[in-house]
Order: sequence, then structure tokens, then C-alpha cells
Amino acid sequence: MEKNGLQETKTRILIVDDHVELRDMLREAMVISGYECLTAGNGREALECLALHPVDVVLTDIKMPEMNGLELTEHIKQKYDVGVIVMTGYTDDFSYEDIITKGASDFMVKPVAIPELTLRIKRVVRERALLAERNHAMEKLRESEQRYQELSITDGLTKLFNSRQFYAVLHGEIERSNRYDHPLTVLMLDIDDFKKYNDTYGHLEGDRVLSRFAEIIRECLRQTDSAYRYGGEEFAVILPATKGEQGIITAERVRIALKNEIFKPRPDIDIRVTVSIGLAQHAKNEEMMDFLRRADQNLYRAKAAGKNQVCFTQ
Ligand code: GH3
Ligand code: MG
Ligand code: MG
Repeated sequence: MEKNGLQETKTRILIVDDHVELRDMLREAMVISGYECLTAGNGREALECLALHPVDVVLTDIKMPEMNGLELTEHIKQKYDVGVIVMTGYTDDFSYEDIITKGASDFMVKPVAIPELTLRIKRVVRERALLAERNHAMEKLRESEQRYQELSITDGLTKLFNSRQFYAVLHGEIERSNRYDHPLTVLMLDIDDFKKYNDTYGHLEGDRVLSRFAEIIRECLRQTDSAYRYGGEEFAVILPATKGEQGIITAERVRIALKNEIFKPRPDIDIRVTVSIGLAQHAKNEEMMDFLRRADQNLYRAKAAGKNQVCFTQ
């Protein structure tokens, strides 16, 4: 038995034939060849059996009462990931094409020679294992592509979008704002005296503040707003369809939420951290960099006026 991880258990075969002696003969031969074997006398029984037991390959006669082998193949292929080998008689009126288009993996003409049958079963099993392996590899690739995509637009520490994404989204929002005459506001946020916090309690504790602050920002935003880690301890928020005056409310909410948060860089120390925020509302057809410069100037004003405040000028 192959041990490649995909096929550690015995290959299980379901033999479907209304001819009892032939069915028993095939079963015996398959068991001797090392396969686990189930049998069914017609299509209905075969489907009942499949509903209960996982099977790797179905070996089915074509001419059977109730449901012929082709109909059975079609049913199986709609519901199960199973290889099907169809057995036809010399006189049966089915073409190779009929059989394959129903989804069968292979067909054999009766009387079936056992060595040939085992070879074909092996081939079907191998093909299915390869297919499963390829699907698995494709799945992994898709996952890693998605992860890479996420990595390239998000910040690892805070899980906010990064500055690259900030410029991309802001660019789109500016276009929309120009086109539809919607207001658009940005906030620039910079944690106050953060160097001192780092120097006093260490970089790791500083990182904790950044992570928590990112959460606080998220908690204060509406669904259409988006938050970004712009640089070290600087963050940005885009507020689409929002005027500067409304933006002040969001900015104040963030500022107060951070001010009210208690950080414990050491068990015996409760400390508060504050943030300064500058806002700007986009002026129609204003360049992105001019727009951001105005928000930055307001941030600078908030710092100059004593920090822990929001500054907005038209
Ligand atoms: P101000 O109130 O004027 O903003 O002063 P500040 O000390 O916050 O500003 P400054 O720009 O002088 O210092 C920013 C500090 O932010 C310096 C650096 O140690 C810290 N910093 C930047 N990125 C990170 C980071 O990823 N993790 C941690 N822990 N600290 C960071
Ligand atoms: Mg700074
Ligand atoms: Mg700072």
C-alpha cells in the first residue's frame, strides 16, 4: 500500500453488478489483490452504499435493472468525488464517448481480465491522488497569495492598513469626492510624548500602547471610515462623506477614549497616554499632498498649543 499521506488506508472499491456470480467473483479477486471491497446489486443499492461509506473507486456494470451504469455514474459524479470504471458487454449499445462524458474515469469490456482490472484501478487511484495533491497545492498557493496581499497592505503590529494603502484609498476617495461633490475629511493622529514613554518603559510596552490605540481608533469609527498606521506612532483616518466639523466629533471621541485608558507598563504603575489630532476637509480639486499638508499643519498646531487636543482650520 502506498504511504504518501493521501492514501494511507486501503483503497476501497464498490462493485455494482446485478449478476450475482460475476459480482462475487470480482469481489474475491479484488480482496485477493489487497483491496477492501463492497458490493451492490443495482444503482439504487450502490447510491445507498455510497451515502454510508467512503469509497475510492466504483466498478459498475452498465446493463442493470432500475438504473443503468451510465445513470449511476452521472448520479455519483454529481455528489461524490469518486473514480468510476464502467464495464460493458460486447453487445451493449454504448460508446466510449457516452461513458466518458458521464464522468467515468475508464471503461472495460467484459469479460474482465483481473490483472488488467487491477492495473486500471491503480491508475484511477493514482490519478485521483495526483489531482487531490494538485488541488491541495493550488489551495496553499491561493492562501499564501492572499496572505501576501494582506501583508503588503496591513501593519503587522496594529493590524491596521499601512501607509501604502492609505495613499491608495485616499486617492480613490479624493476622486469620488471631486466627482460627486461629497465632503471628505482626514485625521492625522500622533501620540504625545511617546519617545519618553518608550525610553521609560521600554519598546515592548510602547508597542502595547500602539496596539491598544489602534483598537481604540477602530472602536470609534463608522463602517465606512478607515484607519491606517501612517508611520511609527502616527496614525491616519479617512472619513468619507464627512465634513470637517463632523470629523471633529470623531477626533474628539478618539482623543477622549485614549485619555481615559489606563496603561500598566509595570504592575505598580497606572499611566495615561494622550494624542494630538489634526484634521482637514478636502477642498474641491485639491492635490492629495496639499490636502495632507493642511492636516499635518493642524496636527502641528495641536502639538504647539499644548498637545492632547484636536485642531481643525478650514
Ligand atoms: P510628540 O509629543 O511631539 O509627538 O513627541 P514624541 O516623543 O511622541 O515624538 P517623536 O517623534 O520625538 O518620537 C516618536 C517616538 O515613537 C520615537 C520612537 O521611539 C517611537 N516609535 C516609533 N515607532 C515605534 C514602534 O513601532 N514601536 C515603539 N514602541 N515605539 C515606536
Ligand atoms: Mg511623531
Ligand atoms: Mg508623537
